[in-house]
Amino acid sequence: MRLDGGHPALDLVNTVYGQVGQPPEDDVLRAPEDLMTFATRVGVAADASSTAALEAARRLRTACERAFRDDDPTGLEAAARRAYRAGTLRRGGWTWEDADPMSAVHRLAHAAAQLLADDDALARLRGCHDCCWLYLDRSKNRSRKWCSMEDCGTNAKKRRYVEKRRALS
Ligand SMILES: [Zn+2]
Repeated sequence: MRLDGGHPALDLVNTVYGQVGQPPEDDVLRAPEDLMTFATRVGVAADASSTAALEAARRLRTACERAFRDDDPTGLEAAARRAYRAGTLRRGGWTWEDADPMSAVHRLAHAAAQLLADDDALARLRGCHDCCWLYLDRSKNRSRKWCSMEDCGTNAKKRRYVEKRRALS
């Protein structure tokens, strides 16, 4: 599991692999346990999961994709409303019952809604030049072109190098 998005909502969008406009090649979220693993890895508490929660997470993934790639937040708005209906607002912020399998989805929806409200972060939102994954560019001069230098960046550099050599020969 690669986590290069720099934000749980973007990492969620990046859990499905494939070329844009083509059917998915691979999906990190295949079973309810995958949702718990993913949520824990991105720092969102997840003590329980279920098939319904997995399906909700996949729907939230599509909603986040539309919100952050296509600027259509209607699906995310609905998910955030569900999250806040199920949650409790306390000093320190929103909380959800750890035993509820949907809590991880609600926490992810809350994180996504916060990202959409964060103009400074949105100004750093990029799509990888190679794989189209979404990430926040936290580099100083905001010039990062790839989701990850180890994967896409290095490959692109290699390709360029090969192209250059071909051009020379
Ligand atoms: Zn990439």
